[in-house]
Amino acid sequence: MRYISTRGQAPALNFEEVVLTGLASDGGLYVPETVPQLSAETLAGMAGLSYAEIAFQVMQPFVGGEIDDETFRGLVHDAYATFSHDAVVPLNQLDANHFLLELFHGPTLAFKDVALQLLGRILDHFLAKRGERAVIMGATSGDTGSAAIEGCRHCDHLDIFILHPHNRVSEVQRRQMTTVLADNVFNIAIEGNFDDAQAMVKASFADQAFLNGTRLVAVNSINWARIMAQIVYYVASAVALGAPHREVSFCVPSANFGNLFAGYMASQMGLPVKQFIIATNANDILHRTLADNDFSKRELAATLAPSMDIVVSSNFERLLFDAYERDGTAVRELLERFQREPAALAEAPLARLREKFSSFSVDDDTILEVIREAHQRTKELLDPHTATGYRAVERVRADRATPMITLATAHPAKFAEAVVKAGFTGAPLPPHMDDLLAREERYSVLPAELAAVQRFVADNRR
Ligand SMILES: *Cc1c(COP(=O)(O)O)cnc(C)c1O
Repeated sequence: MRYISTRGQAPALNFEEVVLTGLASDGGLYVPETVPQLSAETLAGMAGLSYAEIAFQVMQPFVGGEIDDETFRGLVHDAYATFSHDAVVPLNQLDANHFLLELFHGPTLAFKDVALQLLGRILDHFLAKRGERAVIMGATSGDTGSAAIEGCRHCDHLDIFILHPHNRVSEVQRRQMTTVLADNVFNIAIEGNFDDAQAMVKASFADQAFLNGTRLVAVNSINWARIMAQIVYYVASAVALGAPHREVSFCVPSANFGNLFAGYMASQMGLPVKQFIIATNANDILHRTLADNDFSKRELAATLAPSMDIVVSSNFERLLFDAYERDGTAVRELLERFQREPAALAEAPLARLREKFSSFSVDDDTILEVIREAHQRTKELLDPHTATGYRAVERVRADRATPMITLATAHPAKFAEAVVKAGFTGAPLPPHMDDLLAREERYSVLPAELAAVQRFVADNRR
C-alpha cells in the first residue's frame, strides 16, 4: 500500500514509513493512494466475529503485508484486550432506532484509546525490526496525552514525554497521566499554558538536533495509523446493525475530524452509510464551513467539552483532498489562503461534501440541557462531548427509518465538571479506576523554556 500527500508534492511512502513520519514534507497529510474495498460478501461474513478479528480484516489491506498476518493479528488482539468491556466498543440502544457506540471502555475512558493502544504496538514492532529507538513528544490539555501514555507504557523501543500545563488540567486527567510509573514515561508539567507547551513541542519537531539523531515520532491524529484503527468501529457497529443489507447513519462529536474521517474512509471502502452528522461545540469551524461556506479561523472558546476545543480542524484537509477530486495543488492553495485570511471552498467540492455530511453546533448551555434531557428520557448519563452529538441528531437527522449511531467519545466520569453543572452529584469512575485519586504520582515541573525542556528530554531518554 502506498500513501500520498494531500498537497501533492511530498514523496509517496509505504505503511511503515507513513506511521513513523506523521506530517508530509510539503505540509500535507498522508492518505492511501487507493482505497481497499470491502465487498458485500466480506461485510456479511463479519457478522458474529470478535472485534479483534473484524479489526484485523479491515486493517490488513492498509498494512499491505509490511507486518506479517500472524504478528499483526497478535498486535490487534493485545491492543483490544486492554478494554474493560468484552465487546470492546458495545452498542447501547437509546430508543427505537438510535444507538450509542460506547468508545470509552479503554484504559483512559475516551475514544482515543482505540487508536493509541494499537499505534504504540505498531510503532514498537517497526522500531524493534529496525533496531532503533524513538522518542515521542506531545502536548496535551487532556485526552490525547493520557491515551498516548497508556498506549506506549509497555513499549521497549519508545520513550514518551508528555507536556501539560501545570495546575491547568483536571485532577482526573492529570492523574491518568502521572500515575503511570513506567520507566519510559515522562510527564512534564510546564509552568505556562497549553499554547506554551504546544509551541515547545512544535519547535522540537522543527529542529530535532537536540536528540542527536534519535527519531522523534508524532502520535497526534495526523498519524495515519490512528485513522486506520478508527475505521474498524464504524464497520463493526454497522455490521452489528445489519450491514451490508441495511444502511446506517453516524453522528460524530468532532474537532480535528480524525474520528469522522475514519467513518468517511469506511464508506469509501464500501460500507453503506446514509448520512454523516458532524457535531461541534462552540468551536464550530466545521459547521460554519458546511453550512455557510465560511472556512475561517475564529478565536478559541473554552467550552464544557474541552477535547473539542480547536481553532483549526487538521484532518479536514484529508476530506478536502477527496472533495477536490485529489487535486493536491488546489488543496495546497486553499489551505495556504486559509492560513492567511478567511477562505471559502469552491462550489463543486462543497456540493460534494453536502451530499453526505450534515452539521450542527451546540453551545455550553445546550450541552447542560441535553445532559439533563437525555438522562430523563433514556437514563443514560452522557459526557459533554457526546451530548453535542445527541442534540445534533435531534436537529439534523435525515430520517428515522435508518438506524442512527451516535459515537460516545468519552465516559462521563472523565468530565465531572459538566455533569455536576448539569445538576447531578457526579459520575463515579468505573471499578478498575476507582482508586485513581489515591495512586502515587510522578511528574517533573519545568519552566516554559524550550532549552530546559529539550535538555530534560535528551538527558532522560533511554
Ligand atoms: C479528541 C476527542 C474528540 C474529537 O475528536 P476528533 O477526532 O478530533 O474530531 C471528541 N470527544 C472526545 C472525548 C475526544 O477526546
